[in-house]
This record gives sequence, structure tokens and C-alpha cells, in this order.
Amino acid sequence: MSEQPFPAAYGFLASARTGGGQDPEAPRFATRGRYSELSERLRAQSVRFTLVHPGDDTSGAYATGADTLVVLAGEIYNRAEIDTVLDRAAASDAERVLGLVERYGLHAFRLVNGRFAAFVAEGERVLLATDHSGSVPLYTRRTAGQVLAATEAKTLAAPHQGDLGFPAGGARRVRRLPGLHQVPAGSVLEIDTGRGTAETHRTWVPPVSRRIMSEEAAVDAVRHALEKAVARRLAPAAPPLVVLSGGIDSSGVAALADAAVLGPIDTLSMGTDRSNEFPQARVVADHLGSRHREITIPTSELLAQLPHTLHAAESLDAEVIEYLLPLTALYRRLDGPARRVLTGYGADIPLGGMHREDRLPQLDTAVAFDMDTFDGLNEMSPVLSTASGHWSTHPYWDREVLELLTVLEAGLKRRYGRDKWVLRAAMGDVLPQETVVRPKLGVHEGSGTTSGFTLLVREAGVPEAGVAAAKTAVVEELFDRIVVGGEEPDRVDLPDVVEKVAKAVKG
Ligand code: ATP
Ligand code: MG
Ligand code: MG
Repeated sequence: MSEQPFPAAYGFLASARTGGGQDPEAPRFATRGRYSELSERLRAQSVRFTLVHPGDDTSGAYATGADTLVVLAGEIYNRAEIDTVLDRAAASDAERVLGLVERYGLHAFRLVNGRFAAFVAEGERVLLATDHSGSVPLYTRRTAGQVLAATEAKTLAAPHQGDLGFPAGGARRVRRLPGLHQVPAGSVLEIDTGRGTAETHRTWVPPVSRRIMSEEAAVDAVRHALEKAVARRLAPAAPPLVVLSGGIDSSGVAALADAAVLGPIDTLSMGTDRSNEFPQARVVADHLGSRHREITIPTSELLAQLPHTLHAAESLDAEVIEYLLPLTALYRRLDGPARRVLTGYGADIPLGGMHREDRLPQLDTAVAFDMDTFDGLNEMSPVLSTASGHWSTHPYWDREVLELLTVLEAGLKRRYGRDKWVLRAAMGDVLPQETVVRPKLGVHEGSGTTSGFTLLVREAGVPEAGVAAAKTAVVEELFDRIVVGGEEPDRVDLPDVVEKVAKAVKG
């Protein structure tokens, strides 16, 4: 269980200077929260940072050592393990990272299972670290004598005087934002400001080997790993809310969360006027006795959230935006106090759940491809929910769960004609049978998001063959206006964007 109901900080913008450089402009994050401006003078660098945070107390979001400053957004899940190797007790996750950096240097991040982005200034270098899955995006810009880093690209969008490119490979350039790079998933970008060098060190890579296990051993391992991942994501002071579709992934999380806490959990389902999965989610809610709520969002209102989805996810992938749109809309409707949200997001990637055919070679090819290409899509970004004041976390992308699910041989993922067989078998005793055997239905399908978006561009005159290209163009245009151009999402005229794109597609 987590000590604190929420991470001390959800995001940051930090600047480390050895010499010149401009002060960063006052940032505007999509993340909702309070802003605190702090600074710290180290021997060779002076650091200024802005935290965006949910509570009054920011002390858990940074920690200082002799000549080291750690700034952390997000949270750690293997706290107890880490604490066994530290010399002194850590009062926060930032202190844990500091203790690890003092002991292991930049390899510290190989030891952390968490959902975080970190900025470390130490001596003459800056370390920029992502968690294994890069779930909290981290961007950087470098000028002579200055390193800037932030958890949202938009806060670093303005060009800076004397922008330097990166000599090191690995960091990804960001569309239409020259000088801006994204730190890869599972990496530490080490920037030596004295020598002017930058190097990427991997802290996690998706496993490509596969393990043969008996049915029983695999099922037990999956159940155990997932139980642990769910438990680590709960906090006594913040009762969990599970966003529930009635599919096996979110239903499994709901069942394990329910088993881990006293009293009922909260569950929430969204649907639209076009489509919903309410009956299937209701079966699970009734079974668990959860406090269940359904939210129906008219399709026009759902599509109107596209600018907000771009604002939060800063992703250029139209398919990913379609998955994230219904969730963004759901979080924006989730009023009341801040919640700790657990999702079933991401299970399909290591298990090949989207792969709708029976052959194992193709299944493992799909898994390996998806595990190789998720980086930079920002699919797991917490900003989707923190933009509405809620913290979200994804147990299937816990480092241990993800590793285990990835390495299981394909025959355990598809078995007896079922997709995600091992997960279904692992949940057999805590969910109704109809939920356990329910075929996969994507969040973009169950909510009618894909078909609604298609209709939107078709009605603007885009021919059937041009739909995918038009959706991509809409997403790119929104990215350019909101992330690059700094336009407020509420002020973007979506019909206007769609019309412009449709004209271009029609030629
Ligand atoms: P399956 O992949 O087998 O359909 P699932 O529905 O739980 O299981 P996805 O469809 O991949 O998973 O959706 C990803 C996650 O998004 C879900 O696990 C759930 O947490 C959330 N989600 C999806 N649809 C809804 C919905 N209609 N209402 C609330 N949350 C949803
Ligand atoms: Mg799923
Ligand atoms: Mg589903």
C-alpha cells in the first residue's frame, strides 16, 4: 500500500544552469494542481524548478544531498525493497531516489519499479530518467550552459536562444518543436554540462525471450504478480476507483482491488449515445458489490474532447488518441474530490489481446512489435487524468507484471481458442464466468469512439479511403495548435479543424 494518497508532485519543469541561459517562462501545464516555484544552489549548478502538485506539501517531491538535487514526479511501487538497501530511512520517494543515486550512481533507476519522471542535478551533470515504460513523459531542451526538462512538451515549446541539438542518439525529436527531445522509456539521459556531452543509458528493455511454463505455474504467477501490483497501487487514505468496462482486464483489477480493501470499492463506466458496455460492467459491479456509477456522454460532446485529449496526451498517434479520448472524457466528468484511479489499461499489449487470429507465430510477432513500438505514444500518461485532478495508475504495466506477461510463451496467451487465456484463468475464481469468457472489446469500440470520429470526418466530405489519413491530419493539426502553438483546448474550433483537413484530403 502507498503511504501517501497521492504523489507529492504530478509534474515539473526544471532548469539547471552552469552559466548563461534564460529563465524558463512561467509554465502552463495541462496537469491540474498548485504550482510551486523552488530553487537550489549546488556547487556547479543552480537549479530552478516548478512543481505542479495536488496537495499543500511539496517536500516529498524533491530531495537534496551533499551536491545532488532530485526532483520527482509520480510514485514508486517497490518501496519496501528499495528501503532494504538504503543507509537511512527515506521519508519520500524523492529521498528514495536520492539514496539510490548516492549508492548506485546513474544505475539507480534500474532498481526502481514505478510511475515517474525524475530530474537529478549532481556535480556537473544532469540525469533525466523515465520509468521502465516511460509512462510519465519527459522532455528536454538544451542551450549553452543550461539544461531544461519538463513532464509536458508544451511547457518547453517556446524556442530558446542558442538551442543545442543533442549529440547522443536515443532521445526522440518532437514534431514541429526544433530543439526539443523526449527521453526514451526505461532510460537515463546523462548530460554532462562540463564536457557538453549527452548519453542515453537503458534501465529497462522489453524482454524478447519467452518462457515455457505449466498452465498451473503460469496462472499462479500471473495472479500473484497482479495481486501485488494492485495492492501496491492502493492507498488507505484514498479509496480506489476502478474505471470498469466489464472486459477481463478492468474486471480483474476491480476484483483484486476489492479483495485487497475492507468495504466496497468504487467503479465507474462510461458510454455514449451510440454505444456502451453498461450491462457487462454492471455484472461485475453487482458481483463485487461495488458502488457503481454510469456516465453517458453524447457523441458530439465526446468528440469535442479531442482538443483536451491532445492537450493531455501530447501524442501524434491517431489510434492512441481514439483509445484515450473516451477516458479523457470520463475523467473530465469525474467531479468531486481527487481520486486514485486504477485501470485495466495496457494488458492487451504484452498478451496480444488485439490480435484476432489463432496462429502463435503471428501472435508473438504482434507482441514483440507492440512492445518495441509503444515508446513515445504517451498512452499511459498520467496527464489524461491529472488534467482533471485525478491520479491514475495501470497495474498491468507494473514492471513485474509487464515482464511476466511479456515472457509467457504465446501458447499461454492464446489457448483453447481464447485470447488472453492465462489472465482469464488467473481470474476464474473472483469473477462471474460470463466476464471471464467475454471476448475482448476495445475501449474505442465499446464507446463508439472510432465510429463517431469516422462519421465526423465522413460528414465533412472525406471519402472512406481517406478516413485514416484525415484522422491523423486532425490529430496533427490539434497537436500543432495546442502543444506547439499554446492554444487553449477550449478555444480550438474543432469543426473548423475538421473542415480544413477534409479540404486538404479531398485535394
Ligand atoms: P478487454 O481488453 O478484454 O476489452 P478491458 O475492457 O478492461 O478488457 P480495454 O478495452 O483494453 O480493457 O480498455 C482499457 C481500459 O480502459 C479498461 O481496462 C478500463 O480500465 C478502461 N475502460 C475501457 N472502457 C471503459 C468504459 N466504457 N468505461 C470505463 N472505463 C473503461
Ligand atoms: Mg484491454
Ligand atoms: Mg474492453
